[in-house]
Amino acid sequence: MRVLVTGGSGLVGKSLNSYIKNENEFQIKDCHFTFVSSKDADLRIKEEVDKLFIDREYDAIIHLAACVGGLYKNMDSNVEMYLDNMAINTNIIKACHQNNINRGIFCLSSCVFPEKPNSFPMTEEDLHRGKPHFSNYGYAHSKRQLEVMCDLYSSSYNRQYICVSPVNLYGPFDNFSIKNGHVLPSVMHRMYNNSLNSEDFMVYGTGRAFRQFLYAPDFAKAIVKLLLDIRVKFGIFNVCDMSSFEGDISIPEYSIQEVVYMIAKNLNFPKEKIKNDILKSDGIYKKTVSAVVFKVRYPDFKFTPLSEGLEITVKWMIDNFDSIRK
Ligand code: NAP
Ligand code: GDP
Repeated sequence: MRVLVTGGSGLVGKSLNSYIKNENEFQIKDCHFTFVSSKDADLRIKEEVDKLFIDREYDAIIHLAACVGGLYKNMDSNVEMYLDNMAINTNIIKACHQNNINRGIFCLSSCVFPEKPNSFPMTEEDLHRGKPHFSNYGYAHSKRQLEVMCDLYSSSYNRQYICVSPVNLYGPFDNFSIKNGHVLPSVMHRMYNNSLNSEDFMVYGTGRAFRQFLYAPDFAKAIVKLLLDIRVKFGIFNVCDMSSFEGDISIPEYSIQEVVYMIAKNLNFPKEKIKNDILKSDGIYKKTVSAVVFKVRYPDFKFTPLSEGLEITVKWMIDNFDSIRK
């Protein structure tokens, strides 16, 4: 199987690349993956997308490329997030169909689910049931439209365009930008700087919001599983940890303050020097999703505990500090 991977230089793309290199599973060795980034084509431009397919015969796509960012980037550039992602996704999905790519994995996000669901945790069926939160309204609607396109091409043309929807991702290769990054990489970077300068650390917001977190290498593995599982033809798969504890399912979820303290522990940053800037937005209070469909299909899939993933990621950031995305 020849697989085109867009977004190859990002957090998930690089996690996928290292997973494939290190994995000895026969099925993966039988696949050839081509990773592309914006250096190969600006996917917002149709002609550039079309060029990616000239003289290439791909059987499948893993579409990861997107204009991505944390809460504050989304709030600052809601329009750009909508327009860029709509253009990227429309160009890609049209090109896939025109080039007879029958199977694909397309990436959504738990933050595109409704702001006020009937109940928590939300399931895949809740995706379109209510408005997304204002903070990422543009990004959310573009991702919801991606799901609509996958559904339409699958039902109208028999394509197998499958959607995956992860919770907040983190790991080595993340975007550690203080301004644009998600909470974990941006806190790691800021706190590391402050520890070098012996300054207090400000948590943005009250720290009371809740988030679920997924280690990007686990997500990469989930993507490959779904791609190679011929029983899966279409639909949405939420991906998050659903640990079983004495027979009961629990969904690990953390307050922002809790994860800031976990990062502080890894950086040996004193707890008493951590303060909150409550004038900054908390974003959505919670957006808890469940991943029952994934769990039922792959009951033995192991997720990396947050404490373990954070330890690896903080160490990776320090070891690669000169070259991280800032
Ligand atoms: P990332 O680290 O920001 O990487 C984004 C990737 O998209 C990069 O490879 C980037 O290429 C590429 N890209 C951006 N704009 C492009 C354009 N106009 N043309 C071509 N390529 C472009 O993002 P990520 O965290 O790996 O996200 C992967 C997927 O997961 C995305 O679909 C995202 O929406 C989804 N997701 C992410 C999170 C999260 O917490 N990170 C959570 C849920 C869902 P360059 O490096 O060349 O710019
Ligand atoms: P979201 O999950 O889509 O809202 O995006 P983020 O991953 O950026 O998480 C935002 C949450 O983390 C909000 O509750 C913020 O108040 C909180 N937060 C605390 N410090 C930071 C920080 O340094 N950067 C970011 N992006 N969020 C922070």
